[in-house]
Amino acid sequence: MKQFQAESKRLLDLMINSIYTHKEIFLRELISNASDAIDKLYYQTLQDGDTGLNRDDFFIQLTADKENRRLVIEDNGCGMTDQELEENLGTIAKSGSLDFKQTNEQKDGVEIIGQFGVGFYAAFMVAKHVTVESLAYGSSQAYRWESSGAEGYTVEPCEKETRGTRITLDLKDNTDDENYDDFLDQYRLKSLVKKYSDYIRYPIRMEMHKSRQKPKPENAPDDYKPEYEDYTEVETLNSMVPLWRKNKNEIKPEEYNDFYKSKFGDYEDPLRVIHSNAEGVATYNALLFIPAHAPFDYYTKNFEKGLQLYSNGVLIMDKCADLLPDYFSFVRGLVDSQDLSLNISREMLQHDRQLHVIAGRLEKKIKSELESMLRNDREKYEQFFQAFGLQLKYGVYSDYGMHKELLQDLLLFYSSKEKKLVTLKEYVSRMPEGQKYIYYASGESTSKIDLLPQTEALKDRGYEILYLTDEVDEFALRVMMNYDEKAFKSVTSEDLGLETDEEKEEMKKKVEENKDLLNFLKDALDGGVQQVILSTKLKSHPVCLSAGGPLSLEMEKILNSMPGAEKDQPVKAQRVLEINANHPIFERLRALYTDDQEKLKKYAKLLYTQALLIEGVPVEDPVAFSNAVCDLMVEA
Ligand code: ADP
Repeated sequence: MKQFQAESKRLLDLMINSIYTHKEIFLRELISNASDAIDKLYYQTLQDGDTGLNRDDFFIQLTADKENRRLVIEDNGCGMTDQELEENLGTIAKSGSLDFKQTNEQKDGVEIIGQFGVGFYAAFMVAKHVTVESLAYGSSQAYRWESSGAEGYTVEPCEKETRGTRITLDLKDNTDDENYDDFLDQYRLKSLVKKYSDYIRYPIRMEMHKSRQKPKPENAPDDYKPEYEDYTEVETLNSMVPLWRKNKNEIKPEEYNDFYKSKFGDYEDPLRVIHSNAEGVATYNALLFIPAHAPFDYYTKNFEKGLQLYSNGVLIMDKCADLLPDYFSFVRGLVDSQDLSLNISREMLQHDRQLHVIAGRLEKKIKSELESMLRNDREKYEQFFQAFGLQLKYGVYSDYGMHKELLQDLLLFYSSKEKKLVTLKEYVSRMPEGQKYIYYASGESTSKIDLLPQTEALKDRGYEILYLTDEVDEFALRVMMNYDEKAFKSVTSEDLGLETDEEKEEMKKKVEENKDLLNFLKDALDGGVQQVILSTKLKSHPVCLSAGGPLSLEMEKILNSMPGAEKDQPVKAQRVLEINANHPIFERLRALYTDDQEKLKKYAKLLYTQALLIEGVPVEDPVAFSNAVCDLMVEA
């Protein structure tokens, strides 16, 4: 007996002990596995150039054996080798299950079973013993996998003549609460297939036991009573029309949601469904979903974007990356087109004109769907943005800003004024007269940014500031340069463009008066700053730091923390130390300039270090700073 892998065992335990009321979904899971197996086989034979198989020969068969309380689900798909039985049924390796585990820790585990594509293990919600017999395509030896649950499983060779997989469920014993015999009832099974698996493109067959009236004999007496006879008939239970080929008006929201969850292994309903049937230059059906949350590996390089691609109902590629731009890589779904050839290769597909046309249409569609969500369902859009906003911002930044026009109105940033996420359009529409720029401030968190001294003067004037907390934010804005002809401006840039001409004159005079002092301070900082200036931003704070050149302090931090950054030669923004001439400290500096220049040197360093700390820039020599503060304390 072999042990299940730890993850699998946990999931299995949940299944076995499930009190979940929708146990019926086990059937959906097993049928969709069977359907996938046929898809896989068909695809593989196409690739191999094997034309011996006829699409009409494929089927999924249900057999209810009431006497032995057994339900059998059989398919003639690709089957599994002994190794595949081990790998696929003994371990969980797929992303959805890991995701499940995380959510499971937060929510009541039992409650989410069934909303989630739990796959094969769902069989254990209704079965006390599960047998999987399988003959893989191209192999001559069949194998049997068996398990009664958590204690483990066995795999051994067995007899099976026909290719494919047969799953036999020995149903659990009936209890007061649950009548498992229900799952042997032909009408119940039929209705479950209708409910969950109607769109499966292969016939799901079952032998139905029926009764009919015997024909009336010709010489029947007057008081003839109709006679009945039992007979059996194999019925195809599903309509076989894929969901995406159906008329939109005939599909209920739950059908879309169920389809999405079982097909893409999510436990949460999608935020949005995009169903589009196009004819003309490109003829296709597309069924796209915007997930409610990012898959756990979404922002890693392991994530693979793409849509399923069908040619006339037959799956030809599982993740066709060319159908989705990177910035919309979160979209799940499928495209079915009759214009694509069945045995088209990946390389050829990349150059397929038709595919490009479809991709272009889908991109527009996705964008307009997101815009409509933003307009009409802000709360949902914010949820979406929480999950995938980062991707949109990368999209603005990437390819030298080629997609900024397309994406700029989908972005949200935190507003100092509204204390919530706002669009650039909203920001600009509120700009008071005289405000020249769109201001932003970067930092670790909105609360930290809110404390930055540089934001004071702007707030004072009632100007709104966008608080940027993601690393990519400032880079994205830099690439955009402006929005609606308003340039973006960092609060740490030297000139915020706030003063009137008179104010500028006045400042000029003041600078002239203090020229020597300012130069002295600069020299005292030993090249730490490019300039020391009198601030126009500060109101109550004594000092702050700003950047003179194109590189902001925030960008400096990010660039230096990137992998591969030169540790010994970090990039440096051109630093400018700003001093508040209206703060009492300034008078003190002026006095020291005449009385005690040695002390003034020390003060200059202290003030500079304070500015660094406020800005969150690493201090080169924290020990020296600490000692200098202590010296001051002792003096006082
Ligand atoms: P999922 O189908 O979501 O990948 P499952 O737990 O349902 O997860 O199944 C695990 C794997 O077992 C499948 O990915 C597939 O490779 C294999 N499998 C399951 N059922 C069948 C079947 N009827 N025929 C062939 N392979 C199957």
